[in-house]
Amino acid sequence: MLKINSSYYKESEKDLPLESIVTPESLSGIFEIDQKTIMRVTRKYPMRINPYFFSLIKKVDDPLGRQAIPDLAELDQEIFLKPDPLWEEPQSPVLNLIHRYPDRVVFMVSSQCAIYCRHCMRKRRLGQEKQVPESVIAKGIEYIRSTPAVRDVILSGGDPLMMSNNRLEQILSLIRQIPHVEIIRIHTRIPCALPQRIDKSLTDMLRKYHPLYMNIQFNHPDEITSQAEAACAILADAGIQIGSQTVLLKGVNDDPDVMMNLMQRLLQIRVKPYYLHHADAVEGTRHFRTSIETGLEIMRHLRGRLSGMGVPQYMIDLPGGGGKVPILPEYVLEEGPRELKVKNFEGEIFTYPLK
Ligand SMILES: *Cc1c(COP(=O)(O)O)cnc(C)c1O
Repeated sequence: MLKINSSYYKESEKDLPLESIVTPESLSGIFEIDQKTIMRVTRKYPMRINPYFFSLIKKVDDPLGRQAIPDLAELDQEIFLKPDPLWEEPQSPVLNLIHRYPDRVVFMVSSQCAIYCRHCMRKRRLGQEKQVPESVIAKGIEYIRSTPAVRDVILSGGDPLMMSNNRLEQILSLIRQIPHVEIIRIHTRIPCALPQRIDKSLTDMLRKYHPLYMNIQFNHPDEITSQAEAACAILADAGIQIGSQTVLLKGVNDDPDVMMNLMQRLLQIRVKPYYLHHADAVEGTRHFRTSIETGLEIMRHLRGRLSGMGVPQYMIDLPGGGGKVPILPEYVLEEGPRELKVKNFEGEIFTYPLK
């Protein structure tokens, strides 16, 4: 049996080992799954599952297994699927920095993740390098410094929290020295994928760099364990506002009741649902994509039945670098000169006076 060791992440100056502790061999020993099949997939898209996340998986195709265990469907080819549909590379003025919107940039400072999500939107880059070179970080910071329009810097990756506190602090302090940068966001899946990483020494460092926001990713209620809850409490107690960027995934959370439960649990652990992302048309992730109608049905279910605080915005990210756009259920049935005909969350029709 596989040893589950919660101290897999060691707070040290070294980055984590690249290798997955869970191997195709150990996987095939535990689940009914063929080692050769897994290896066919991992030759193209590497696997990484840490012992904590692995301990939560009960079956290969349960909601957590689907997100972490390689699936032959990843090798399906489909003409409309692209390695980089959102044009992140063409919209990078310098390596690892995406500048799509006027006032904010995504800065990919880490190339490591606690687990390699099978639905990753940056699957094309999976496991390609151990560390982002110092020169790339330096050029990114120089770009931000010389671009006064940038008010908001999103640290992403990979996962920024896979870096040691010291390395992360070096980057945060350089960005904070730039006067026009108002807010910093850290985009990470660590509270879900390796919550043991979050501790007071991390937040003692982070809180020096406020206003600092964090966006995380929980996709299923089973990911919200007591450890994940404790991690979010440590962050929230340090004054860090946490949002969830959930991804709508077939076989994981494409169900109104599961999604409702997830959003309720997120509010309970002090995480505000921010976005519900429709799965992008990324090569190797087709088996996760749902219809837009599925997403809209979920949104109609949430609105009115769940605290408004818990209703995320449902977003599609436009191919060709057009950016994110919200998709909304239609509530206005008819617009007359004097009144609107509006459907409420229970399907009842009301008249709303305009004059
Ligand atoms: C999603 C995204 C952002 C941030 O968008 P918000 O709507 O402000 O959260 C910024 N840049 C890029 C390239 C993005 O994909």
